[in-house]
Amino acid sequence: MSDGAVARRAVAGFRTEYGVEPTGRWAAPGRVNLIGEHTDYNDGYVLPFALPQQTVIAAAAARRANWSVWSETNGERISFDDAGLAPGAVPGWGAYVAGVVWALREAGHRVPHAELAIASDVPLGAGLSSSAALESAVLTALADLGGLDLPVDDRPRLAQRAENEYVGAPTGVMDQSASIRCRAGHALFLDCRSLAVEHIPFDLAEAGLAIVVLDSRAEHRHVDGEYADRRRVCEEAARQLGVPALRDIGPADLPGALDRLSDEVTRRRARHVVTENQRVLDTVALLRDRRIRDIGPLLTASHASMRDDFEITVPEVDTAVDAALAAGAYGARMTGGGFGGCVVALTEADNADAVAVAVTDAFAERGFTRPRAFTALPGPGARRLP
Ligand code: ADP
Ligand code: MG
Repeated sequence: MSDGAVARRAVAGFRTEYGVEPTGRWAAPGRVNLIGEHTDYNDGYVLPFALPQQTVIAAAAARRANWSVWSETNGERISFDDAGLAPGAVPGWGAYVAGVVWALREAGHRVPHAELAIASDVPLGAGLSSSAALESAVLTALADLGGLDLPVDDRPRLAQRAENEYVGAPTGVMDQSASIRCRAGHALFLDCRSLAVEHIPFDLAEAGLAIVVLDSRAEHRHVDGEYADRRRVCEEAARQLGVPALRDIGPADLPGALDRLSDEVTRRRARHVVTENQRVLDTVALLRDRRIRDIGPLLTASHASMRDDFEITVPEVDTAVDAALAAGAYGARMTGGGFGGCVVALTEADNADAVAVAVTDAFAERGFTRPRAFTALPGPGARRLP
């Protein structure tokens, strides 16, 4: 898509900031999760795919003993050195970069000092994981520049560590796994317990289909506290059931398990996680059979479960789902942690515009901020650009 344009901007920025040519360019994408929400920290399953939008880094080994980072996104340039690398030392957006350097060094790697210039077309803070795109692009660039012996399987955990321990955001490993490990034309089936991945065919273009991504632009309300609360209730439910995580409860065990939980809210939270894990498995089975259209009802059921049992949706995303379905989408659901963010809708490619228009009209009718819409085909994961 805009691959070329973003990469050119990163290179142009590099030249302006540092007055020399970069050694190379590295890209890492944003992502959407097709299905499997709030399952990651329950050791369950997720099924994200990489967006065509990505973060590109132009980089070269530094001429002095520090790291310099410029981002076109905010026009800022920061730098930090070995001494200024402790968690907390680099604030703001620079923490996503310094955190990766820190996590690599904590894992025993010799990270090369470097000059970096960043450009991106992943929207920030929309739930499309610009943070993981940034971390993954930095990690990929530094690993290549330093010739680090760093198997791709180990990379998502390191990028996650940067976000959890350096930035201080308690996220699961899905976003970084998606940004690093996805393949074009595929969704990434990730087992969040073992971190085993399988590339599941999801060739929308070949099937004449599209995923419309609708950014609700709803203000994230109390999102940190609500996320922590859902996590705590899920852990408590697993404890009451005597299992390591809700992942260990299958649909067949569900009725009996629900009877053993202490209260109605805990029961509903657990039911979402158990049924959502099964919906991921069912989606994967259909996609393996190339029955993409048939996953629609699973997407919509996932949304209903997030709305009614997990209670993480807001009127904007519920409206987007209803309007997309009314406009002929096969299925639609909120994607991401909740309380705002994006909706994905599966539809015939030639109906994608109609879905976007229907959602925009429904928002206008209800006085919501105008949503942003784009269609997404599954793109490649983090890589060096030729
Ligand atoms: P999301 O990951 O859903 O986009 P987050 O809040 O997790 O939202 O991450 C957004 C933050 O990541 C931004 O506020 C900024 O600090 C940082 N960030 C992401 N991409 C860039 C970029 N290209 N340049 C500078 N900072 C970025
Ligand atoms: Mg993020």
